[in-house]
Amino acid sequence: MKVVKQHSEFMDIAYEVAGGSNCRRRQVGAVIVRNEQILMTSSNGTPTGITFCRDGGCQRCLSGTDTGDLYESCLCTHAEQTAIARAAQEGVSIDGATLYCTLRPCLTCVKLCLEAGVLHIVYDQYIKFRAEVENAYARFTRDTRLNLVKRSKTT
Ligand SMILES: [Zn+2]
Ligand SMILES: [Zn+2]
Repeated sequence: MKVVKQHSEFMDIAYEVAGGSNCRRRQVGAVIVRNEQILMTSSNGTPTGITFCRDGGCQRCLSGTDTGDLYESCLCTHAEQTAIARAAQEGVSIDGATLYCTLRPCLTCVKLCLEAGVLHIVYDQYIKFRAEVENAYARFTRDTRLNLVKRSKTT
């Protein structure tokens, strides 16, 4: 009998993966799945060669910046970005895949997902972005084929 994993199982795995994050601010996990198979997992944190964020490697995370702000000066790589980059490094196509993420992805991450061929994003925790980001986000999800949903309680 084929065991079909449910949304919740992949989200559970995303939370497990988040536990490996080296970010002092927030631990985020991402799991990329296609045909019920996990293609890639990753957490957020400082990239290879940079001191771990929890050890002071990222000035932005050390500061009291609000979640979702000043990403452009943050050295931490987002879980989704790292998962996509690792897939490229390892030659794993994620075309047509679904990405599960513990936190609502930022605008940069949804753009990367779209261009990497990800069709669906399921996230768990909601965060609200600044008004201009929300406007861009709304337009992006309306005009592109990317399907982005918050996990419902039942799945
Ligand atoms: Zn960090
Ligand atoms: Zn992001």
